[in-house]
Amino acid sequence: MLIENATVVTVDAADRVLDRAWIAITDGAITAVSAEPIAPRPGEPRLDATGKVVMPGLINAHTHLFQVLIRGVYEELPFVEWLRRIYACGLALTEEDAYLSARSAAVEALTSGTTTIVEHHFLNRVRDLPAATIDGMRSMGVRTVFARTAMDMGALAPSQVLEAPDEAVAACEALLASYQAAVADPARMLSVFVGPNTPGVSATAAMARAMTDLAQARGLRQSLHLAESRSVVRQVERDHGITGVARWLDAEGALRGPILAAHSVHLDVDELRLLAERDVAISHNPVSNMFLGDGIAPVWEALEQKVVVALGTDGAASNNSQDMFEVMKVAPLLQRARREDASAVGPRQALRMATIDGARALGLGDVIGSIEVGKRADLVVLDLEASPHTVAVHDVVSQLVHCAPSDAVSSVLVDGRLIVNEGRVAGIDQQALLADAQAAGMDLVRRLSAIV
Ligand SMILES: [Zn+2]
Repeated sequence: MLIENATVVTVDAADRVLDRAWIAITDGAITAVSAEPIAPRPGEPRLDATGKVVMPGLINAHTHLFQVLIRGVYEELPFVEWLRRIYACGLALTEEDAYLSARSAAVEALTSGTTTIVEHHFLNRVRDLPAATIDGMRSMGVRTVFARTAMDMGALAPSQVLEAPDEAVAACEALLASYQAAVADPARMLSVFVGPNTPGVSATAAMARAMTDLAQARGLRQSLHLAESRSVVRQVERDHGITGVARWLDAEGALRGPILAAHSVHLDVDELRLLAERDVAISHNPVSNMFLGDGIAPVWEALEQKVVVALGTDGAASNNSQDMFEVMKVAPLLQRARREDASAVGPRQALRMATIDGARALGLGDVIGSIEVGKRADLVVLDLEASPHTVAVHDVVSQLVHCAPSDAVSSVLVDGRLIVNEGRVAGIDQQALLADAQAAGMDLVRRLSAIV
């Protein structure tokens, strides 16, 4: 494919924005980015982007896709009471729910410019929920990172979703074996992570160590929830006599990267320094943190300590959307409010967190996250000049971050394939899929009401 005459926001090392550029794509990879017109090859599909902006696909570095089926159901609850209900979903979720919610959530993500999703999975009652979720995501053409995490403790989670560390390790090995070929594919459309779900609350130090050993032995990354709410810090302090969840994990020998640590709200500066030393990146979920009343993550301080910070929506039961444009705006503004400094985190930094830094946090920094020759073509085309939210356009990056609505997205390419065309996912009956998800959500909540 050839993308012609676009304003290209490259997010390269120099944050270059090219006013008029052509992007050539061959076999899913970007093969040229040129300010001079490139002639199309015979029969090559062309995308005329005159007046439009092309940016790297957004990377949602933390979510739980099944939660699109329970939007708006559990609200205004203390964190642990909310978590108790979320964990109880493990008693009711079926493989069909997992598959359908992954497809429905992927529609929301893709049409709003997200090309990579990190699905952090932690409900393992039904053996094939992970496979159903992965298959649902992949069927939509979204770049998939699946984190198969585990729980082995706590009064919050029903016993049916708990596993012993050796069982969890065996299940992760089995999952890896069944997706071995896809994970090995150099296009990197599927990555598998492992991890302890929420160390200190739903996962013991023994589980965290077992997952760390597995990750180190197999060259995998881990995903985990780190210090999301003050209640987690208090519980670790009560149970282990150490203040700070990261500090406790490190003392247990379970803070060995690469790790993607979701939230990281309640960490002190010494712990942030520890994250940088241990190759731990943060997945920052500001909308979810506000929604649950968890606090404001010290992102400015994390950036000062050279911690890689990615952005995520978190699940739709604590956001309640999967819109990364919203997250990309809220993340810097929260830091400005917190620091009382309008320059604390700027739009270029926010865009990097949502693209190239997200890619680095996932171990995909050489594969996606910027528009450069050699990268896979995960691209979003937006029509800023046709939206009342963005006209008049002066500073493209500022306007992408601060005022572009997700419905300014007109086309989305993942690995060079045109997945979204004129704002809709091509090749599927989008309305029928959403109707199926609506029915499944109603049925799931009916079943859940008998449980919690
Ligand atoms: Zn989460």
